[in-house]
Amino acid sequence: MSILQARIRHMIERLIAFDTVSRRSNLALIDYVRDYLSEHGIDTTLVPSDDGRKANLYASIGPAVAGGVVLSGHTDVVPIDGQPWHSDPFQVIERDGRLYGRGSCDMKGFLGVVLALVPEMSALRKPIHLALSYDEEVGCQGAPRLIQAMVEHLPQPAAVIVGEPTNMQPITAHKGITCLRTTVIGHEAHSSQTHRGASAVMSAARLITWLDDLARQRAAQGPFVSGLEPAYTTVHVGVVNGGTAVNIMARHCVFDWDIRHVPGDEPEAIIEHFQRYSREHIEPGLQAMAPNAGVSTEVVVQAPALAETADNAAIELVRSLTGSNMTYKAAFAAEGGLFQRAGLPTVLCGPGSVDQAHQADEFVSLEQIERCTRFIQRLIQRLS
Ligand SMILES: [Zn+2]
Repeated sequence: MSILQARIRHMIERLIAFDTVSRRSNLALIDYVRDYLSEHGIDTTLVPSDDGRKANLYASIGPAVAGGVVLSGHTDVVPIDGQPWHSDPFQVIERDGRLYGRGSCDMKGFLGVVLALVPEMSALRKPIHLALSYDEEVGCQGAPRLIQAMVEHLPQPAAVIVGEPTNMQPITAHKGITCLRTTVIGHEAHSSQTHRGASAVMSAARLITWLDDLARQRAAQGPFVSGLEPAYTTVHVGVVNGGTAVNIMARHCVFDWDIRHVPGDEPEAIIEHFQRYSREHIEPGLQAMAPNAGVSTEVVVQAPALAETADNAAIELVRSLTGSNMTYKAAFAAEGGLFQRAGLPTVLCGPGSVDQAHQADEFVSLEQIERCTRFIQRLIQRLS
């Protein structure tokens, strides 16, 4: 192992050792990165969450001029609960040319490579900006304020590279996500007296059926964005809770659902359509039994899609660095759409495969880490 490879390995091990499952604080990791950058003479800015339990971090390396490149990654990881791991998820082990550990591909492998290469960024003519976010895995909740702070305080970057696991291939579009919670309030009655009550469960079933019909309509009629799999917007109900007994008409039912939209198929229109159906066809029946019965829907989290554009400077940059003429699209949601919405040309490119993300025995191959290392080194050369 070369000195550089050892440095990269050490950094990945350190990052993975911090248990930054989204429900926990990421501050220990952020402090570690801040101290590390400070040792290399680099100032960092933290952008904390409202409760102060978490923080985003950004830092600029090189001159304070426009035309730099943002390297972005999230610091949180998904939970390990119930997953059959064969080793400690927070301790990296190497087996068969792979590094195993929670976050190895999503996405501490990328962050480890970037941070380990910071000492090589001493002669930049255009800056490299590091952007580390929190709460990506629970709906990209940290990145909006991070991006806003960067846009306000940094000279305009030319491109953003989000190091999600893409097998080091440029991903130029991804879906957006909206998570919603619908609450149905009905009116209780004995189930032998259905004419005296209004079941929240039965009304929720009709709403869910409407969503299922909509999902089928999107699958059959689009809009379609080729390269995405599936190529259409999906609508899915993941959790339903309601009722207390088989012989009681339910007063209460809640269901959680998501819309994963293709670029251009805006979720607001779907939500508005759903609410109109609910207003016109579900609520009147409920409110005939109880005036305070009804349906309410709230957006829990939302992140925009990354849309392919003709003049994306980030795509050209990543293509020239990877030597790949191919571009791909991803069905998963990521922070790319948020950077694009802030007016920054954005592409996803990072080591490892999304097939291993969120799984037990998550891994990144050493070959992918090598490719990412050469990629970042070429970027440094390009900007030096
Ligand atoms: Zn990720």
